[in-house]
Amino acid sequence: MTRLTAPHVPGVTTIVSRRAAALCTARVTSCVQGRSAAGREEVLVIGDPAAEPAGAGAELAAALRRVVGGEIRFDSYSRHLFSRDASMYAIEPIGVVFPRDADDVAATTVTAAEFGVPVLPRGAGTSLAGQTVGRAVVMDLSRHMGGIIDIGAEQRLARVQPGVVQEQLNLAAARYGLVFGPDTSTSNRATLGGMIGNNSAGSQSVRYGMTIDHVLALDVVLSDGSRSAFGPLTEGERLSRAAAATLDGAICRELPGLVERHREAIATGFPRFWRQAGGYRLDRLAGSAGAGGLDLAKFLVGSEGTLATVVEATVQLVRAPRFRVIAVGHFASVQAAIEATEDALACQPAAVELLDRTILELSRQKIEYRALGSILHGDPEALLFVTFFGDTLAEAVAGLDRLAERWRAHGHGYHTLRAVDATEQAALLNVRQAGLGLLMAASTGARRPLAFVEDTAVEPARLASYASRFRRILDAHGLTAGFYGHCSVGCLHIRPFVDLSAPGQPELMRAVAEEVRELVLEYGGVNSSEHGDGLARSEFNRRVFGDELYAAMQQMKRLFDPGNRMNPGKIVNAPAMTDHLRDAAQPPAPPLATRLRFSAPGGMRGAADRCMNIGLCRKASTGVMCPSYMATRDEDHSTRGRANALLHALSMPDPRAALGDDRLHGILDLCLECKACQSECPLGVDMAALKTEALAAYQDQHGVPLRSRMFGSIRALNRLGSAAFPLSNAANGWRPARLAAERWLGISAARPLPRFQRHDLRSWFRRRQGPAASASRGELIFLADSFTTFTEPPAGMAAIELLELAGWRVRLEDAGCCGRASLSKGLLDAARRMAAGMTGRLAEAAARGVPIVGVEPSCLLTLRDEYAALLPGDPRVAAVAAATRLPEELLLEAVGAGRLVLPQDNAVSGRRVLFHGHCHQKALAGTAATTALLHGIPGADVVEVDAGCCGMAGSFGFEAEHYELSMSIGELRLFPAMRAEPEDTIIAATGVSCRQQIAHGTGRPARHPLEILRQALAGGRGVR
Ligand SMILES: Cc1cc2nc3c(=O)[nH]c(=O)nc-3n(C[C@H](O)[C@H](O)[C@H](O)COP(=O)(O)OP(=O)(O)OC[C@H]3O[C@@H](n4cnc5c(N)ncnc54)[C@H](O)[C@@H]3O)c2cc1C
Ligand code: SF4
Ligand code: SF4
Repeated sequence: MTRLTAPHVPGVTTIVSRRAAALCTARVTSCVQGRSAAGREEVLVIGDPAAEPAGAGAELAAALRRVVGGEIRFDSYSRHLFSRDASMYAIEPIGVVFPRDADDVAATTVTAAEFGVPVLPRGAGTSLAGQTVGRAVVMDLSRHMGGIIDIGAEQRLARVQPGVVQEQLNLAAARYGLVFGPDTSTSNRATLGGMIGNNSAGSQSVRYGMTIDHVLALDVVLSDGSRSAFGPLTEGERLSRAAAATLDGAICRELPGLVERHREAIATGFPRFWRQAGGYRLDRLAGSAGAGGLDLAKFLVGSEGTLATVVEATVQLVRAPRFRVIAVGHFASVQAAIEATEDALACQPAAVELLDRTILELSRQKIEYRALGSILHGDPEALLFVTFFGDTLAEAVAGLDRLAERWRAHGHGYHTLRAVDATEQAALLNVRQAGLGLLMAASTGARRPLAFVEDTAVEPARLASYASRFRRILDAHGLTAGFYGHCSVGCLHIRPFVDLSAPGQPELMRAVAEEVRELVLEYGGVNSSEHGDGLARSEFNRRVFGDELYAAMQQMKRLFDPGNRMNPGKIVNAPAMTDHLRDAAQPPAPPLATRLRFSAPGGMRGAADRCMNIGLCRKASTGVMCPSYMATRDEDHSTRGRANALLHALSMPDPRAALGDDRLHGILDLCLECKACQSECPLGVDMAALKTEALAAYQDQHGVPLRSRMFGSIRALNRLGSAAFPLSNAANGWRPARLAAERWLGISAARPLPRFQRHDLRSWFRRRQGPAASASRGELIFLADSFTTFTEPPAGMAAIELLELAGWRVRLEDAGCCGRASLSKGLLDAARRMAAGMTGRLAEAAARGVPIVGVEPSCLLTLRDEYAALLPGDPRVAAVAAATRLPEELLLEAVGAGRLVLPQDNAVSGRRVLFHGHCHQKALAGTAATTALLHGIPGADVVEVDAGCCGMAGSFGFEAEHYELSMSIGELRLFPAMRAEPEDTIIAATGVSCRQQIAHGTGRPARHPLEILRQALAGGRGVR
């Protein structure tokens, strides 16, 4: 036995790496050597055994490894990552299992039971009420159990594994014109298992109902690890199953009697309103039992993983609407919008959604959602989105007309926007779906819009009066709140801003929750209408359902789960809603000096703690965030996983030492620093900045690898390579040299290296004849970045020529690197020096309003983004940032002003142009100017591809250990999109890395969009 001291929570089992163990400070009792699935040696540190749950720890992990095929993670980082969901709660689980199949689920359940430990099935962990946090072995079913087994087009059925994401199911079902009806706002990451667990619903529930209405049959693993098939049972089938001496037999024996004993209470005690996601659905069971059968599948829906684990589901699909149109009513107050709901409902809409000013304002602040602002009229306090479906467009539009007429007649709203085609609807849907997430973005520090009274619903006819009484409760407690909701079904997601780390606030929250609960009861509504009970509402179920029904629910729990082994403490027998609060339990942030400035309250930890776990970074088929998650489907490699890991490290007594931990480093390592989270995460979690800071601290302790130094000095290396042309190209292509570089430097031999050109951008600039056009627009600075200058000069040449043709006098800034490459390698001191040098060279011109442009977005936009964090307090930085523009923006202005005229007869006319934007451009400046410019080429058919990150990310794709992942990311969407294009399609990409990756992954050449524009203007035709 080795004695170690560890920075662990006393009484908690911790598996740490050798290195972290060496940093340990607290006294521990025992230590075991082990070997993980990945073959890496680990040190298991066990704290006070008396405080351990029985059987937890090393033996449990080892026992699970013997019987489970999927990975087992019991280390402290994994436990922390799975200690939270999108709720305000956090409980550290005992460990995490990633089952590969139903047998793994059964084996985990049996093994955990042998150790006296509960299990907790989990999907995407987007629950808002704390359903997926608990002291249990968490089974992450989203990782390996996301298959679609079968879609029966004729019967409109789908058989799926529980981890399938709704959007994936919908994409597959779309081939048959089908869709899964209930549509949560989280449909791009929420799993069917989680939807079944919570009885989820969504904006279209007025038409499609809730998940319970679409579940036909479930294969489950019961609490003793046995398997069962749940679905409608005839009395004969029930009796035959009831004869077995199994848990399933006991359930089939006992259930009818239990339902019968409480029939009266079930008939009268359930809330009258149909949209019910709280409690156990005894009403549905009683209904099916009364009809001469027993539908256990429907009963299981909404049971929040407390009764059994679903391992396969058969669900009903509905016909996908052929046409959709949306009306957006503009209102002067939230109340006015709610009052217009009744008229909307009279027009048979598919959805009526409310969005208040708070969310609108937040959407304006984010590039991702900004498009909405430009199509709204005036300055509405609230919007009502009313959706109509139709088999024909005329049918759908008729709904719009009826609504407009009614609202006009009754004086509702001051304007109604009509979105008929898909392009018009895109911005609306984007913001509507992100509503709740956007609201969360209004958090400052621990003051967050919290989910504790966010899911009540009443009859829509009573909604206006209910909402005004609700507001009075908030006013009486001095709380502000964002309003968002599904008005068509009387459901309001009202989230008051509360700081639970402040004294008295948990009590205040409780008081409000109790008052709202009473209001709901008075209105005959439901306390939870789609988000479930979890830790936030389960405590109130006795009051909501009454003593007898509550007792019946407790009996149900005992019948299904006699050992209390399934996600205990939810729905019945729950702790107080104010227990296990994430923010209240968080220790103050230990001091930490950082090289970058983090402006969030709480510095670097505060920046990581902005993550509210809503899981948008687990989406898989749109946008960029998060490429490493898209390729691995591993929570570790999502933005959320990284933010939580950093929060864990930065909460340790010595955060600087914790940043040197190998496990943390492994979690951060696959972040491509694409910055997509900065714009796409509603909370703006900026993982690229967090990673680079953490990497710098890691390297302080472990040294800087030679490869990182090389990549950080890319300008010097490229200058050398360029000077040695063509020898450098020959050396780069020489196989033995490449193999040696892979072996000794870790630079993948499979990745072609960029090729140097005879003339670099600087020599071309010096040698060429002066500009043909006069410089009517004045001076402009062109950033000669380290990549364009030496390996891709044609992109720079095209841009410079175009800018000159547009009337600018170009000055080349070629004295040094912007610092981008150093930043990405965590070489922050070097990056700061470079940033200071660059700022010094540019500041005077920037202050005069001279634009600074460049064709490599990642370099150019570093001036706008990281310089502020690298050089806090330097007054020149803001001027440089303000002067930084995409050249496309200036050229677009020139086209608009008639200074640059693109000829009808041009080399690109009649060609299709497929454009892929660079991640940093998308995150910081957007691609609108580039696409608008390309669209302006007469005769060109331009399409912007939503293909995510290319996977290259600067040096990332060159690194041997990242090469495979880099290519897998490209294969997700980008490569297939390129390959699907006809031979003569022109591929345009703004990033040098993207162009390299496209060429390598698909064999197709890609050019900077400005090269294509230049080609369209070839010979100077059309230039005035
Ligand atoms: C921004 C935001 C917007 C949201 N909007 C909506 C909305 O419009 N409508 C809505 O209904 N909800 C909404 N939610 C809540 C949440 O997204 C949904 O409840 C979703 O269906 C949960 O899916 P999940 O995969 O994340 O499940 P999880 O959160 O992982 O799990 C949910 C519950 O199901 C249980 N469970 C998971 N898998 C299984 C299984 N295989 N067997 C048995 N039990 C299982 C879990 O134990 C847990 O109790 C929103 C949440 C957020 C953060
Ligand atoms: S990183 Fe952003 S998108 Fe991901 S879970 Fe956290 S808040 Fe949500
Ligand atoms: S920077 Fe990119 S790769 Fe890194 S966490 Fe954010 S989205 Fe993911």
